[in-house]
Amino acid sequence: MTANDIDTWRSLPAAQQPEWPDSEALRDVLADLASYPPLVFAGECDQLRGRLASVARGEAFLLQGGDCAETFIGNTADAIRNKLKTLLQMAVVLTYAASVPVVKVGRMAGQYSKPRSQPVETRDGVTLPTYRGDAVNDLAFTPEARIPDPERLKRMYHSSSATLNLVRAFTTGGYADLRQVHAWNQDFVALSPSGERYERLASEIDGALRFMHACGVDPEEFRTVEFFASHEALILDYESALTRVDSRTGDLYDVSGHMVWIGERTRQLDGAHVEFASRIRNPIGVKLGPTTSPEDALALIDKVDPNREPGRLTFIIRMGAGKVRDALPALVEKVTASGAQVAWVCDPMHGNTFEASSGHKTRRFDDVLDEVKGFFEVHRALGTHPGGIHVELTGDDVTECVGGGDEIFVDDLHQRYETACDPRLNRSQSLDLAFLVAEMYRGH
Ligand code: PEP
Ligand code: MN
Repeated sequence: MTANDIDTWRSLPAAQQPEWPDSEALRDVLADLASYPPLVFAGECDQLRGRLASVARGEAFLLQGGDCAETFIGNTADAIRNKLKTLLQMAVVLTYAASVPVVKVGRMAGQYSKPRSQPVETRDGVTLPTYRGDAVNDLAFTPEARIPDPERLKRMYHSSSATLNLVRAFTTGGYADLRQVHAWNQDFVALSPSGERYERLASEIDGALRFMHACGVDPEEFRTVEFFASHEALILDYESALTRVDSRTGDLYDVSGHMVWIGERTRQLDGAHVEFASRIRNPIGVKLGPTTSPEDALALIDKVDPNREPGRLTFIIRMGAGKVRDALPALVEKVTASGAQVAWVCDPMHGNTFEASSGHKTRRFDDVLDEVKGFFEVHRALGTHPGGIHVELTGDDVTECVGGGDEIFVDDLHQRYETACDPRLNRSQSLDLAFLVAEMYRGH
């Protein structure tokens, strides 16, 4: 393999790509990116593929979460720590209450570009190009802000690098030590119903740790946490510039993140994104919406996972609470019958978005929960494994989704509505979800 072998997607239609106004400027940026060091090591991608193989075999559960859209300005130490803390708390709840190993993957350190349903946005009679993520243009509603600027791709690389650096420091440097299980539950969340429930669980874990310590057991595994980074591989110029030949194996890896996924809007079988994904050795996710036919799913497997390798392909189901029970069984049945061993993961966010009377794009916590329930019911009925959840969340106390134990009402949405794209679960809603999913898992 040479790095040029990644370019086969260039002759195919690529949906959702920015229209960069200056192709020379883009070329210069891509040349710079191609000279930068990798953000992740190919061996780590292999490790994650191994973990996801356990998920596909029914021996582990995937927790994948983070912002819908990361932003450069939102990329602060506090925001990163709070997101990580939320994922660690959720993982502890799932590991302890459902007794299952949890594979932890952030929608972090690269989630800077967005596919959009509409190419333009109109406000008060003014129409401008739509916001496509900080990797492309700016959220501000002015003509200048919305012009795609390739220099932003470099900022995406550097922001991803800084995030990953801090996450690695936290997860290996003592912050994620299981003996910190109480410390993650400070500030506003501690007073919410889910925070109180978490506190009780943390005390049980504490007791178990003290017992083990007294017995002379103090395993190294409790001191650090294995954490991976993922994002949607949307802007193929960026992903290609960060695709490298692994010196150990000669294979191609997209070293912009450990796992990348293809979105519902770019999973065309003869399209550029699927072709790109088929060429790299990273674990690949594909989002599947309610109109996916079993034939589509099987064709995706043939293209992306021709060797039927557990861990290689994760199907991320996002059908909506009202559709998952009808649309998912045929997919799971036919894929299972084909002999493929994919990981099945539920994204209960993207099929449940609606516009509230206040004008905010939102999601109901109950719909999110109901989609996960439907997902579990389908797998229980078929004897297959509900392999994980993929959620949009933040560690902050935002008001973007309605409902939850510390209930947010439509009238509250304006208070802290901060997302650059889709509405996210806040920290206490995320914890609520983890407890409820752990109960479902235990009963499945
Ligand atoms: C997303 O994950 O933010 C997204 C756009 O999802 P989907 O491709 O499933 O619509
Ligand atoms: Mn989203």
